[in-house]
Amino acid sequence: MIGLTNIEKRFGDNLVLKGVTVTIAEGSVTALVGPSGGGKSTLLRCINLLEIPTSGTVRIGDETLEFHPGGKVPARDIQRLRLQTGMVFQNFQLFPHRTAIENVMEGLVTVLKWPTERARERARALLEKVGMEHKADAWPATLSGGQQQRVAIARALAPSPKVLLCDEPTSALDPELAQEVVDVLGKLASEGTTMVMATHDLRLASKIAQEVVFLDAGVIVEKGPAAVLFGNPEHQRTKRFIATLK
Ligand code: ADP
Ligand code: MG
Repeated sequence: MIGLTNIEKRFGDNLVLKGVTVTIAEGSVTALVGPSGGGKSTLLRCINLLEIPTSGTVRIGDETLEFHPGGKVPARDIQRLRLQTGMVFQNFQLFPHRTAIENVMEGLVTVLKWPTERARERARALLEKVGMEHKADAWPATLSGGQQQRVAIARALAPSPKVLLCDEPTSALDPELAQEVVDVLGKLASEGTTMVMATHDLRLASKIAQEVVFLDAGVIVEKGPAAVLFGNPEHQRTKRFIATLK
């Protein structure tokens, strides 16, 4: 249901993704692991088109866009595909001058033009799903990191995206606060939310990912079921990297 075919991304002379092809099944969780600078964030950003791939094809559900060097893809096509995705960032990135519930409502009201009351209802239901309904009217600065991330997850889910993209969702959190985010993501996964997440968190990846992709220097070195990739990887590079996480 999500297909990336031969994705290349170049920043100036730096070819950061060197032809990445990966298929993500509906309802599955894929973990992207690999050394810093390997291209995990760039790959996630190429799925929601925060970065425009230099070349390759991005497919999400029924929407497919092809990219060519020097080619121009219309902004409205990019917007349509981006609306199929929700993104969660390492540092939460909530709007500081909006309450928790307003953060969740924001995209529904401003982008999708939902009536305020309908947006508020959906936002409340999503806050409940992530266990944050009691903080609906709180300002982000008064929330713990784990609570902020849970609100950010609710915000990302608001437009009912086909895929939830998470970039190191627990990296900025102490273990205890990371655990509450792992629990929420685990619950979403068990409900069938399709997810792709970059993470260094072995606990997170082994708990909820079926498929693990090891990305190093812009190339997929190895991919497979979590148990195989973490337990018995084929390639030396993967072995060495996994050992550093344990
Ligand atoms: P990871 O998330 O695996 O740590 P990134 O995708 O952040 O890797 O980075 C991959 C490479 O792309 C790095 O060399 C980084 O410097 C480069 N890069 C990422 N974003 C940009 C950008 N906006 N401009 C230039 N180079 C970038
Ligand atoms: Mg990154």
